[in-house]
Amino acid sequence: MANASVDQMVSAAPRHNLLGMTEPQLAAFVVALGEKPFRARQLIKWIHQRGVSDFAAMTDISKVFRERLAEVAVIEAPELVHEHRSADGTRKWALRMAGGSLVETVLIPEGARGTLCVSSQVGCSLDCSFCSTGKQGFARDLTAAEIVGQLWVVNRSLGAFDDTRKRLVTNVVMMGMGEPLLNFDNVVAAAQLMMEDNAYGISKRRVTLSTSGVVPNLERLAGAVDVSLAISLHAPNDALRDQLVPINRKYPIAELLRATRGYMASLPDRKRVVTIEYTLIREVNDLDEHARELAELLRDLPCKINLIPFNPFPQSSYQRPEARRVERFQRRLQEAGYIVTVRTTRGDDIDAACGQLVGRVIDRTRRNERYRTQLAQKDSIITRVS
Ligand code: SAH
Ligand code: SF4
Repeated sequence: MANASVDQMVSAAPRHNLLGMTEPQLAAFVVALGEKPFRARQLIKWIHQRGVSDFAAMTDISKVFRERLAEVAVIEAPELVHEHRSADGTRKWALRMAGGSLVETVLIPEGARGTLCVSSQVGCSLDCSFCSTGKQGFARDLTAAEIVGQLWVVNRSLGAFDDTRKRLVTNVVMMGMGEPLLNFDNVVAAAQLMMEDNAYGISKRRVTLSTSGVVPNLERLAGAVDVSLAISLHAPNDALRDQLVPINRKYPIAELLRATRGYMASLPDRKRVVTIEYTLIREVNDLDEHARELAELLRDLPCKINLIPFNPFPQSSYQRPEARRVERFQRRLQEAGYIVTVRTTRGDDIDAACGQLVGRVIDRTRRNERYRTQLAQKDSIITRVS
């Protein structure tokens, strides 16, 4: 962008959306318009600290430059469609993206902490067998503006731009719809904005990227951005993981753990640990032998384990294990020396739980149909046997 002429930029339609630009990107943009780079800092503060989307309101910027900006740029966030509040305090916003897709963003308050779960894609191409997003197929990547825009809209809706006491979002997890590492550049730019001091200033320990294991892009992540990492493992061996997380057939567990170690080693802060996510599915991956094998597998990895009891959804025949079984699995791992948390399901009454950020995606892959057919066949086999 630094080398692009103003005319090239101005002639490009539609107008540039500044919402998704990091400070260095904005600096290149303003320099191309003949301004000093420090204007980028002013702009970024107006946009991300004060929530202003109208250039005319940016009073410390000259009128001439504001008018110029209005000609070539916009500050455009996703459209807020509706907001739900759960009885347990969880809040969910439905946002309409360009083209009409709906994406949901969830805020989970826990004491002084507020964790915002954001989406990186509309749908997902990876088709994990226990995930409702995966069952919808893939529609498109979200832009950087649409990813960071989820935080922007939530802050605006909370009144956080006008009143710092209402800044309830202290943590961001990329655990909504989509596989963040398959939308690399936009996810990295959005994460950088979330952490930039002149934008949201969230600590790097508090922005977490969750991946099912796109190994080459995990390798690229080292050096590109310094976020916390969560690995969606879900199985202690390749045979089982191949069934649950199909991308494992391409990048098996050993490669995934090697890339994970590489990323952790690239971080300047050696005390950081990776989170291992493990969705517990009844009688699929929740047995003692799985806990034992998992404890063995992760022995040399600085990690904590987050168990997620499976959240059922209509198209799935999997079941959530009983609470006793979840506790037992947790205990087995704790006995092996791990720090193990269980993700409590929140926002059940508003469908805000993991893997239930359904949105409405046009299913371009006919995956839904295929899946229903498989289920129907399974049912008929069961009927025949019994
Ligand atoms: N694609 C990324 C991030 C989005 S999914 C990833 O897979 O990591 C966020 C987390 O929710 C993942 O750990 C995912 O495995 C989990 N998840 C998805 N569907 C679920 C379900 N039905 N029940 C419980 N956890 C689920
Ligand atoms: Fe995609 Fe993650 Fe769902 Fe797998 S679990 S289908 S990678 S969103």
